[in-house]
Amino acid sequence: MGTSASHADLATAQQIPADVLVIGGGPAGTWAAIAAAAQGARVVLADKGFCGTSGATAPAGTGLWHVDPDGDARAHAKASRYALGGELAEPAWMDRVLAQTWDNVARLQEWGYPFPTDAAGRLRCNSLQGPEYMRLMRRQAKAAGVRILDHSPALELLRDAQGTVAGAYGLRRAQGDAWAVQAGAVVLATGGCAFLSKALGCDLLTGDGALMAAEAGARLSGMEFSNAYGLGPAFSSVTKSLFYNWASFYDAAGQPIAGAGSARGRGIIA
Ligand SMILES: Cc1cc2nc3c(=O)[nH]c(=O)nc-3n(C[C@H](O)[C@H](O)[C@H](O)COP(=O)(O)OP(=O)(O)OC[C@H]3O[C@@H](n4cnc5c(N)ncnc54)[C@H](O)[C@@H]3O)c2cc1C
Repeated sequence: MGTSASHADLATAQQIPADVLVIGGGPAGTWAAIAAAAQGARVVLADKGFCGTSGATAPAGTGLWHVDPDGDARAHAKASRYALGGELAEPAWMDRVLAQTWDNVARLQEWGYPFPTDAAGRLRCNSLQGPEYMRLMRRQAKAAGVRILDHSPALELLRDAQGTVAGAYGLRRAQGDAWAVQAGAVVLATGGCAFLSKALGCDLLTGDGALMAAEAGARLSGMEFSNAYGLGPAFSSVTKSLFYNWASFYDAAGQPIAGAGSARGRGIIA
């Protein structure tokens, strides 16, 4: 196999065969790894930190777009998001996200994720606690037979003689050596590029997957929409905005700011 890698460690790297290599072990990576393993693939998942505690979801929480397929709830949900997003969304993708979220939440229930109940005794499935969620995802990935390499940042994609991506290599920081995985499919799931935000869990999100994809010739789209700014008190690294649904906002003189809110009115706060 030819390779574009020039790193000296590649020559002595531990070679690991796989059908599918997943780079990154947050929600995207673990769901992809579990799905591939369920199809019978040999899956290796490499994470720069520790799959289950690294990334933007693990230390905090995630709101879910969990909307009942019956009735017109989804039509309303889509219309409201479409307007919020400046009418730039694609309805077919919104349908896909809604359907996948509904299915995945059912899987999480089967796997024992502790969804809380509301006052009427119904399960509340519109948010996940990151630590519980990602601990469960790591456990499910291991149960599915996924081989997890922790503290093993991918550095570069490997390519075959035709230039097709055929794996990747990286470092095993605990062992002080390198790994190389030859795989028929590589999934880049390294999260965003929010390391300068100081937000909880984002310090290792340096955009590596986007860079590797671009180096391999991928064309990126929509990157101008990839910056989301959360609310956060100056003394805190917690910028997940669910908490602020219950917040009241005041100006420097202590006067309530009319119309300010987390789900709406963020512009007023800004
Ligand atoms: C302030 C804030 C608020 C948010 N609020 C919400 C919300 O309410 N609802 C919602 O759904 N989402 C929310 N999100 C977004 C959500 O956290 C992310 O969309 C989600 O975590 C992305 O999942 P991911 O698997 O793509 O990436 P991540 O969860 O970030 O995981 C990426 C993984 O890749 C690994 N990695 C990085 N580089 C490498 C490398 N070179 N080699 C190997 N591994 C690597 C990291 O260690 C990490 O484990 C918020 C994010 C932020 C920052």
